[in-house]
Amino acid sequence: MNKNPYEVLGVARDASDADIKKAYHKLVMKYHPDKNPGDKSAEEKFKEVNNAFDILKDPQKRAAYDRFGDAAFAGGNGASAGAGNPFGAGFSGFAGGAGMDDILREAMRGFGFDGFGGFGGARGGMDMNRGRDLLDNVTISLRDAYFGTTHTVKFSSNVTCDKCNGNGTDDGKPAPKCPRCGGSGVVQMRQGFFAVEHPCPECNGLGRKISKKCSKCDGTGVVHKQRTLDVKIPAGVADGARLRLSGQGEAGQNGAAPGDFYIDVHVAVDDKFERVGDDLIYRADVPFATLALGGEIDVPTIDDKELSVKVPAGTQIGARLRVRGKGMPNSRGGFGDMYIEIAMTVPTKLTEKQKKALAEFAGGSKSSKKSWF
Ligand SMILES: [Zn+2]
Ligand SMILES: [Zn+2]
Repeated sequence: MNKNPYEVLGVARDASDADIKKAYHKLVMKYHPDKNPGDKSAEEKFKEVNNAFDILKDPQKRAAYDRFGDAAFAGGNGASAGAGNPFGAGFSGFAGGAGMDDILREAMRGFGFDGFGGFGGARGGMDMNRGRDLLDNVTISLRDAYFGTTHTVKFSSNVTCDKCNGNGTDDGKPAPKCPRCGGSGVVQMRQGFFAVEHPCPECNGLGRKISKKCSKCDGTGVVHKQRTLDVKIPAGVADGARLRLSGQGEAGQNGAAPGDFYIDVHVAVDDKFERVGDDLIYRADVPFATLALGGEIDVPTIDDKELSVKVPAGTQIGARLRVRGKGMPNSRGGFGDMYIEIAMTVPTKLTEKQKKALAEFAGGSKSSKKSWF
């Protein structure tokens, strides 16, 4: 019986993929057997964490779990500890039964993990050769975050060899199955009492045996190339958002799935507008007389326009005037609001007439404070 995967990873039901991965990486490091030698409960936890992530990382499995609970996986992954193997059948979710080292290597990669099998995955050893994920950073202005923008990344990475279509073979056709592992890419080896699965040494986990290698890529199926990616950054993007371009990472070796390209978006602090969620705050300096008597002020908007806003008589410093729909675009297709936070300008140059008027006001407000407003 599997435990509730959300509870195991300590994430909410509606946790994002990024949060799930974050929680998983933290826990898998904590409970890794190398860090807890001989600790049975850590080993158990490690299994649980991997099983939980196996479900939640896969949109289909996650949806199935949300609908049917554990019954969705009855007879499939999880449960029934395998005889001999210290980590039991709990790992059966990892297609082709990748060895411990591979699982750790995947965990160390920081992202992804998507490589291991799909639903009930049986993609064999191929996935061990999945291309690496790539990560880039960009800082954009608040204005660009409002309108959305395109960020161009230039980098070099492995791409599928065009001479052999990624097969690594001289004739460009898929190589025949490896006779030693029968195409699974893994072989069982005994280590003391345990049978442990290793990548097949004959085919290096590929599952296929190349007799004559492609001359361009030396049989790897990939070549290094300069690339340019235009990343569309959507309007309303939040500071710290991580965008994922599926399949745009490094090409996988010998036809294995490519990695993903991630981009972390930072939105710079703006000197005019403060962003709070979808809303924007603009601090306006308003003359004292306008606040007291009421009037209109012109304020800039994030979309480069100017807005005339009514200030009611008797508006106090620190008050916020709300302008609907003038904030940032939100994920629901609408816009947040703009709040004009009222500050006051104190006049530094006064005419004699103005000075007199103010002095009269000050005297008047002292003797009959209440009658003024
Ligand atoms: Zn093999
Ligand atoms: Zn090639």
